[in-house]
Amino acid sequence: MLSRDDTALSITFIGAGNAFTKKYYQNNALVVKGNDHFLIDCGTRTPEALGMLGLSVTDVRNYLITHSHADHIGGLEEVMLLNRYVAKKKPTMIAPRMYRRFLWKHSLKGGAAYNERVDGKYLRFEDLWDVVDPVRLPDADRELCEATLGSIKIAMFRTTHIPDSAPSWRSSSPSYGVVIDGRILFTSDTRYDPDLFRFLGERYAIEAIFHDCQLFTGGVHASLDELAGLPAGTKAIMSLMHYGDAVDDYADKAAAMGFKGFVKQHEPYVFE
Ligand SMILES: [Zn+2]
Ligand SMILES: [Zn+2]
Repeated sequence: MLSRDDTALSITFIGAGNAFTKKYYQNNALVVKGNDHFLIDCGTRTPEALGMLGLSVTDVRNYLITHSHADHIGGLEEVMLLNRYVAKKKPTMIAPRMYRRFLWKHSLKGGAAYNERVDGKYLRFEDLWDVVDPVRLPDADRELCEATLGSIKIAMFRTTHIPDSAPSWRSSSPSYGVVIDGRILFTSDTRYDPDLFRFLGERYAIEAIFHDCQLFTGGVHASLDELAGLPAGTKAIMSLMHYGDAVDDYADKAAAMGFKGFVKQHEPYVFE
């Protein structure tokens, strides 16, 4: 599951649901191309969901992290502790430097730093993780960083997720979406943000979109009714993720609106 014999890129949703789902294991996706792989986010329920697929968090080498909500990072303590004390290796985190510091200081440090002293000092981020450090593109009018992981090209761009009062990505708490190989867009969590398609369309030839989708309107996620306002050509390549447990009741409505449909958990999406 962590490698492919061909050159295709595949994306498998380990979970496809929202933060509080009891059916869909939150929203975390495994990206594989040849011998390269990374997992986008690792929520509280991700270790369990990986276990159902015969994998441990220590089998995943690379973790791309989009933002600090527990449905996206709640499994990282297990990643850090099992790697350090059982597998005795370091996983790799893919995230911009500024955000890695924010994530450690506000979320990961409390559970990870104080397990051990090395030379009289508690553990640091660097003791627990190797990093892939995406490089910021200076000319972009939205924060945009790019990196490569083996044969996979990764771009991370800022999104507008929290707080709900923030008028733009610039005043939002750090949260990122991902473009994979310049052609697959994975928004991760975001409010409705049509300017994002203008921004990415100027740089990438997007062939498929996986977009955050809430089944009702309000709060910090794009809703099905808001996304319905996008152009038909955008909706035709858009699969909807991060949904609530009542998603089956909305399948016909999403199809009538022109969307590709709701993401199916555990079924690989393959891009030749
Ligand atoms: Zn989320
Ligand atoms: Zn979130």
